[in-house]
Amino acid sequence: MNNQKSIAAFKEAQQHIPGGVNSPVRSFRSVGGNPPFIAKASGSKVTDIDGNTYIDYVGSWGPMILGHSHPKVVDAIQHAAARGASFGAPTLAETEMAQLIKYLVPSIDMVRMVNSGTEATMSALRLARGYTGRDLVIKFEGCYHGHNDSFLIKAGSGALTLGAPDSPGVTEGTARDTLTAQYNDIDSVEQLFDKHKNQIAAVILEPVTGNMGVIVPEKRFIDGLRKLCDENETVLIFDEVMTGFRLGTGCAQALLGVSPDLTTFGKIIGGGLPVGAYGGRQDIMDLLAPKGPVYQAGTLSGNPLAMAAGIATLSLLQETPGFYDKLENSSALLEEGLRNNLKELKMKGVINRVGSMFTLFFTEEESVNSFADVMKCDTNLFGEYFRLSLESGIYLAPSQFEAGFVSAAHTREDIEETVKASYSALKKLK
Ligand SMILES: *Cc1c(COP(=O)(O)O)cnc(C)c1O
Repeated sequence: MNNQKSIAAFKEAQQHIPGGVNSPVRSFRSVGGNPPFIAKASGSKVTDIDGNTYIDYVGSWGPMILGHSHPKVVDAIQHAAARGASFGAPTLAETEMAQLIKYLVPSIDMVRMVNSGTEATMSALRLARGYTGRDLVIKFEGCYHGHNDSFLIKAGSGALTLGAPDSPGVTEGTARDTLTAQYNDIDSVEQLFDKHKNQIAAVILEPVTGNMGVIVPEKRFIDGLRKLCDENETVLIFDEVMTGFRLGTGCAQALLGVSPDLTTFGKIIGGGLPVGAYGGRQDIMDLLAPKGPVYQAGTLSGNPLAMAAGIATLSLLQETPGFYDKLENSSALLEEGLRNNLKELKMKGVINRVGSMFTLFFTEEESVNSFADVMKCDTNLFGEYFRLSLESGIYLAPSQFEAGFVSAAHTREDIEETVKASYSALKKLK
């Protein structure tokens, strides 16, 4: 595979952009090798500037559930652009978007549009604090909620102590307000509630995780969180930036049968354009300015191009008969193929999948249900698998701790080719 142009482009980019990228994971730091610079994408495939084409399981890290450059989405963006890129004034498309989200997700009474997932979680947390008049937030080790200071916090020493900054630039003061619990361990949450009575504003989590690889919440855990939040009048926030409209039109909350108080969205609702949103219970959302005292604003929020792409995407998800069934079938086919590969080669590994989100964990363990399990993975082995896959035209997320995404554009042939390439890669790893 020729990648001379991408090598030169990455070298040049590093002269002007820190690390050559505008988001760290794109640099391939954790897997090694030179990231392909992408020239274009269509359907299930991306093409780099050297002319190599890959079957894409990154899908821009989640948004591209319809596949790339879906004609209806492209058309919607082009029409919107011709009418004006931004006005900083109300438009009909914003109300239409809000109505769509409310219609599809019953826990949402009101919704506010922002420009990224990071902005959505930051704003939801401020709102939860404003609503409860409390400062502390509980998050889970391994979950990712964007790069707000409040979430760049690691657990302090000992499970019951307060957090510590996980990045230079995050203050000790901010860290003190973030508590870290263990995913799928309701006791770890209960202990924090016991220790900090009437001080916890919010619990935030990925209702199905993608950012430490795919982990499914146990029923006892997710029901327990709802109960603890009810008992303590704490706001339960589902961060559905990744899972929202990925796991069905009702999102992860419909799948799990648990209603959060607030939900954050991003990725799919922008159809590939920069968008986020947060919404939920009327009495909480009523506190937002200009109706209430909790301030939050955005020059480009509800941007016409982003609304057009998002509405086109959500409409297609909803209107295409059997959309999620088809996605489930191709994803199941992929899972089955990968499982067979491991079996035939007598290799160990765990595949977690929910709908079109999947992770192949390189581990000796029998199952992966917690951050501790995730940490036992062989990241070197994954790195090798990643590079071999890329060589054979399969574009996976460049980290063991990520979800892969199947899109509606992935054909049976794509999946079969992927399974075959995966077999060859795994065989070389033995
Ligand atoms: C991607 C992601 C975010 C951050 O969204 P950005 O648009 O990258 O700021 C937040 N939460 C979850 C669960 C995500 O997957």
